[in-house]
Amino acid sequence: MKRLFGMLFAVMVACLCAACGAPPEPYTKTAVIMDTVVTIEAEDGEREQAVDEGMAYLQKIDALASQNAGSDLELLRLSAGNGQWVAISPEVFEMLEMSQEWAKKTDGAFDVTVGPVVWLWGIGTEYAKVPSEAELAEARSHVGWQKLELDKSATSARLTEAGMRIHLGAIAKGYAIDGLCAIFKKHGVKNGLVSLGGSSMYAFGKSPKRKPWRIGIRHPRSDDAKEYLAVAPLTDAALSSSGDYERYFEQDGVRYHHIFDPVTGRPADTGVLGVTVIATGGHAGTLTDILTTTLFVMGEEKGKAFLKTCGADASALFIMQEGDTFHFCAATSGDAPAMQDVLTDVAESAQWEAE
Ligand code: AMP
Ligand code: MG
Repeated sequence: MKRLFGMLFAVMVACLCAACGAPPEPYTKTAVIMDTVVTIEAEDGEREQAVDEGMAYLQKIDALASQNAGSDLELLRLSAGNGQWVAISPEVFEMLEMSQEWAKKTDGAFDVTVGPVVWLWGIGTEYAKVPSEAELAEARSHVGWQKLELDKSATSARLTEAGMRIHLGAIAKGYAIDGLCAIFKKHGVKNGLVSLGGSSMYAFGKSPKRKPWRIGIRHPRSDDAKEYLAVAPLTDAALSSSGDYERYFEQDGVRYHHIFDPVTGRPADTGVLGVTVIATGGHAGTLTDILTTTLFVMGEEKGKAFLKTCGADASALFIMQEGDTFHFCAATSGDAPAMQDVLTDVAESAQWEAE
């Protein structure tokens, strides 16, 4: 009898919770993948399967997009200039296809063949150094998206010149976000959040508080990665950020960071500290990742003009600095809302630039 009462009580509590709409505990996992801390959180649907499959998928993309022995990119590098086509996995091929499309659109500001330059500077590794002019000239001479050839019918690629190499650091996280979106959809997850190091994120539906997810725009000069200059309340949208604060070293008072102007082979130096892009719809993860890197390289003026004509629906924010004040400059394309209408909780140290 006692047991029966206990069971009845449990059923009543469950019914009450359902009636008052208390959300079920989210299912969350965190791991270090793609060289960063990734978190996948799902609130509903087959959430355990979605999160576990999502983690396995990230491991797979991490391995595919790596430069490890036997990887597609390493085989491409080893056969660069010998005329041989290299069979490429469908995922890496898709990333290369999108990279080439945007390299063309951006006139090479976005260029995954920037690999020799990335390698030479070694930013974020213990070998990071300012290279000599001769080294830079040599590395730069092996950069050029026109020298990466793709054969869609055979899902293969080749680099036409020895010394070339591909680096997918500017697109792989965003591409992985799109894959996670498909996995969430398959498992009926409507509410959740995925974060790849905070620089590539996707907000599904609502947070457990039944409100849009609150995504912080990182303060570009704070050591605390959780100090924000503003908050983006998001629902079913991707957000990506690129900044000179993510990977860098300082020498003689100069900050050398990891986002390169493929023309100079040097860290892009346009006065922009960070760029954030928000987009919705298919491929939003890849698109925002490509756009943040591109807009960072182009700088505010060129970037704003480019965004208007690039054919995407995206909201962008450029962050600049003058003394202790951060300047926010917004740019929009297509039907996307203006950043001023999206961001909340703007820090006192930040100011919107007049249009
Ligand atoms: P993100 O943080 O998305 O802006 O990506 C930066 C990473 O992309 C760097 O660590 C480099 O590996 C690579 N990268 C740097 N500059 C470029 C560029 N202009 N085009 C494409 N990839 C780049
Ligand atoms: Mg990027």
